[in-house]
Amino acid sequence: MTRGNPCQLPGMLPNYDPNDSEAGMKILEDLTENVEQIQQRVLEEIITRNARTDYLKGFLDGQFDKQVFKKTVPVVNYEDIKPYIERIANGDSSNIISAEPIIELLTSSGTSGGQPKMMPSTAEDLHRKTFFYNLLVPVMNKYVDGLDEGKAMYLLFVKPETKTPSGLMARPVLTSYYKSNNFKNRPFNRFNVYTSPDETILCSDSKQSMYCQLLCGLVQRQEVLRVGAVFASAFLRAIKFLEHNWKELCSNIRTGHVSDWITDPGCRKVVSLVLNKPKPELADLIEHECNSKSWEGIIKKLWPRTKYIEVIVTGSMAQYVSTLEYYSGGLPLVSTMYASSECYFGINFKPLSKPWDVSYTLIPNMAYFEFLPVKKKNEDGAQYVQCNGVCKENCMEKETEKEDVETVELVDVKLGQYYELVVTTFTGLYRYRVGDILMVTGFHNKAPQFRFVHRRNVVLSIDTDKTSEEDLLKAVTKAKVIVESLGILLIEYTSYADTSSIPGHYVLFWEITSKGNNHLPVLDPKIMEQCCSTVEESLDSVYRRCRRKDNSIGPLEIRVVQHGTFDALMDFCVSQGSSVNQYKTPRCIKSGEAINILDSRVVARFFSQKAPFWEPV
Ligand code: AMP
Repeated sequence: MTRGNPCQLPGMLPNYDPNDSEAGMKILEDLTENVEQIQQRVLEEIITRNARTDYLKGFLDGQFDKQVFKKTVPVVNYEDIKPYIERIANGDSSNIISAEPIIELLTSSGTSGGQPKMMPSTAEDLHRKTFFYNLLVPVMNKYVDGLDEGKAMYLLFVKPETKTPSGLMARPVLTSYYKSNNFKNRPFNRFNVYTSPDETILCSDSKQSMYCQLLCGLVQRQEVLRVGAVFASAFLRAIKFLEHNWKELCSNIRTGHVSDWITDPGCRKVVSLVLNKPKPELADLIEHECNSKSWEGIIKKLWPRTKYIEVIVTGSMAQYVSTLEYYSGGLPLVSTMYASSECYFGINFKPLSKPWDVSYTLIPNMAYFEFLPVKKKNEDGAQYVQCNGVCKENCMEKETEKEDVETVELVDVKLGQYYELVVTTFTGLYRYRVGDILMVTGFHNKAPQFRFVHRRNVVLSIDTDKTSEEDLLKAVTKAKVIVESLGILLIEYTSYADTSSIPGHYVLFWEITSKGNNHLPVLDPKIMEQCCSTVEESLDSVYRRCRRKDNSIGPLEIRVVQHGTFDALMDFCVSQGSSVNQYKTPRCIKSGEAINILDSRVVARFFSQKAPFWEPV
């Protein structure tokens, strides 16, 4: 790839040897210098390839023109494209939306009619992802030396998958990638050697997978230069697992034998090879560290050569920063990338920056990017609402839908402005609202950099779950019916994600009263526990999977608060600047002070006693 002639390959992916960091950096420079040309070519290519699909034909009417595209193709939400996705899931030809065959559907967080959202994916898109992953390496090498002198204890997991009626695989995006040949047959990259053998990553039993990956990581502790997982929540889950299982892990290391309950044949074989022989001294050393009263700085103690922790700590994962800092002993926390089931978006070009300073540079050959402006508070005197209860930002979203608002292109975004991301992908999504609100923080060459602000509508998140205010309302409404039948009224509710212990869990604060008088009713624990379970049963498939299958979310809790608590909350919000006239109870609380106000008035606490139903959809 040369300057002025940005991308020549089909699909616009320049070829290079990922072991060659200099070549990688050169590609990144080219991509970020030639943003405008690349974006134009991406759009041209997507339109040219797909103009004859049923979806685009309806709008473009045979025209291949970018202006026509932007004028006639609507900006859409999932609900708008769902009928097409469902047709494909049920056996219709994928060329109703994509000229490239759709080979699988990627299950995304968020629910639509009780089902997870599903995003189309093509074979070519796997190459695009590989290209993207390869670009992360030169960026890290620029800031951290010697990553080729050891290994990464990077804990990766696959999730259950299923097939659609037409036989297409439906699974989460990372599971799809790890199971692909692009991952399994990846060429050797000296900067990217994992302690986890592929068999342990691909093991479908998450407990065996976790155990074996930690065992391999401990045995190779002197070689480990970085540790991590994709999301902070998953990494902390691994630390908790270690807390519960270190004695058994040490016993395996001491004897050189893998525990009998590791029955997955692939795992047993590869882990036995890594264990190799009894290592009593290593076992003593690990036991000594794990036995210490405090686990502060345990990562550095167990993996002494570790230079950083690679986990996403932006967005909803920011809630884990302090816990990670406690365990890490001050190691940098590195969020390398920003991606989704729809498309991989951006790379953090300053990986060692503090979590709250992290920005992602959108890579212009990944998709065609557009941006819906999101106004700041009081910017134009119009009626805006706070985007959601968890957002600490000053950004606001208009209450009305945004169909009337024009999008701006990647090269036209303005510093300091908030935008919602809209993508047109190579896989059959056209002007699709991702739902993420981003803020422009600067530029790398000509490519804008964005801070992830929050996801539209999401109020609660512990792991990869994303619960909206609407999801929560629906779930609470179902539970409310149970108490109402007993003469109890739910007057007010709010929620928060309690991550003070791992795994975190959802907490609902309920103010309730007896019908007919203002007294706190006598509460039957069984009934209240049933309410907790009913809320959980009503939440989306990703929540239920995390809770039931991954154990990455703990039992949901209802805290009943005394009469008048929500008045106290309102007083607090008003004292913080909320308008009395427009005050609406926030359905999710993030401020520590507000949580204290609620917590100090709790009269009873109840937990869900059973994990909700879940099966792959
Ligand atoms: P899913 O499609 O279910 O995999 O979820 C993708 C979403 O996760 C994105 O649209 C973001 O809302 C969120 N996400 C992914 N990567 C990051 C990141 N680096 N920082 C913050 N949020 C992220």
